[in-house]
Amino acid sequence: SEARVNQYGPPGELIPGAAMASAESDPVRHWITTEGGATQITRIWPIGGGCINDASRYDTDVGPFFVKINRNEGPSMFAAEQAGLEAMHNTGTIRVPRPYKVGPLPRRGSYIIMEYIQFGASNRSQAVLGEQLAEMHLKGSTDRGFGFHMDNTIGSTPQHNPWTKDWVEFFRVHRLGFQLSLAQQQYNDQDIYVKGQRLLEKLPEIFSGVHVQPVLLHGDLWSGNISADVDGNPVILDPACYYGHSEAEFGMSWCASFSPSFYNAYFKVIPKQPGFETRVELYKLYHYLNHYNLFGSGYRSSCMSIIKQFV
Ligand code: ADP
Repeated sequence: SEARVNQYGPPGELIPGAAMASAESDPVRHWITTEGGATQITRIWPIGGGCINDASRYDTDVGPFFVKINRNEGPSMFAAEQAGLEAMHNTGTIRVPRPYKVGPLPRRGSYIIMEYIQFGASNRSQAVLGEQLAEMHLKGSTDRGFGFHMDNTIGSTPQHNPWTKDWVEFFRVHRLGFQLSLAQQQYNDQDIYVKGQRLLEKLPEIFSGVHVQPVLLHGDLWSGNISADVDGNPVILDPACYYGHSEAEFGMSWCASFSPSFYNAYFKVIPKQPGFETRVELYKLYHYLNHYNLFGSGYRSSCMSIIKQFV
């Protein structure tokens, strides 16, 4: 098994007992060797590429586990990631890593343990991705309205998800309105705030006659969160899930390189509604505003030009 591991991983760290905390003081090790069903953790391999957390693969006698550690934050962010992965997994449609366990670390910080997925080439799965995403949207339904049973984050920005009966109200207050207020507070940007408020007032008119049903959204679907397993099945990761308008899933499409075959496959399952392109501009605005709030003025003109299309 060591030869197999070395084929695709960086040189791993061999974990003799002395190099690592005991299972009693390390909740990750403890879970893997009890409920996780492993008798032995053979190696821990660091995985690069994450923006926020330390990721590793834990090799054991029952197979690998994927573990993310946050050294500073309590478990609420990982709890929201777990809830999102569970909701998507429960639709039985697109592949997502199965979340196993979230908890606090002894002094500070938190961890999430989930299914390890070996990623493969994803270049042929665009049509499958479109079809399975649409199926996830359809099967993930709720009678509680728009929202989610937990707040989460979009990037590191809070994303509030209180159950709300009306989509326009939810999107106006908890999505666009929230980000506009954040820009006003952070940058004292009155201009974008005031023009943004005028857009918010127009939302009922823009959505008049549009029938919106709550479907389960990944919520942050861009290429960094889309992969494929070794069999070529699409895999989506790192969600910011909530129940919302299916079209809102395309709010990050400017970073997703969806191909025409992706859209064709998606619209075969969920037919494209009149006015789709116009509304997707609004859904993009939410994410542009979030990028403005997270990364600064480079995203301001993209926000403004969308707002000006409507007011
Ligand atoms: P962060 O929360 O810090 O953004 P990511 O979710 O981006 O971390 O994950 C970090 C790295 O781990 C990425 O390279 C990603 O491809 C990989 N990864 C994420 N989830 C899994 C998984 N379930 N199995 C294997 N590798 C994973």
